[in-house]
Amino acid sequence: MSVRWSIGAITSAIRFGEVQCTSMDIRVGHGFDSHRLTSPEGGGRQMCIGGVKIDCQVGPIAHSDGDAVTHAVTDAILAASGQPDLGTLFPNNAPENECRDSMEFLVESVTRASEQGWAICNIDITVLCDACKIVTHKEQICNSLQKHIGAPVNIKGKTFEGTADIEVIEVHAVALVQRGIHE
Ligand SMILES: [Zn+2]
Repeated sequence: MSVRWSIGAITSAIRFGEVQCTSMDIRVGHGFDSHRLTSPEGGGRQMCIGGVKIDCQVGPIAHSDGDAVTHAVTDAILAASGQPDLGTLFPNNAPENECRDSMEFLVESVTRASEQGWAICNIDITVLCDACKIVTHKEQICNSLQKHIGAPVNIKGKTFEGTADIEVIEVHAVALVQRGIHE
């Protein structure tokens, strides 16, 4: 018995939207992103986390706007829905991606997932950063992402606890997606 059938047996005859489906396909995707952080004088961009601009003495060195949270979430959605990854779809040496609003990448990933019949169940994000506190902006960031994703988003912040030699932001994200199967 395949794993898919095991899930299908448990969730048989689920109503998916308006369509009666015999089983449900469920997948998970993981996304990771990191950027070095530096002062504006050193070339750091405005700190932007999940589409929310945050006051910070340092910001990401990046080709696009350097929104590491949005990059990780986009890659998680692309992975879960079987799409090419962020770097393949939006190369970081392409002129059209310079200073680009990363929300455009996220919207593209949600559109691609939807076109393949995938509905996003939820997103969970962990940010490692010593330069700014995520908890202060948690609600704003979740609202900003949920607006484009249409599913619950959770975010939590951690510090490096002295393990990072350089100023950096690292983000891990997971996305769960589901779609009905007509059999
Ligand atoms: Zn990035």
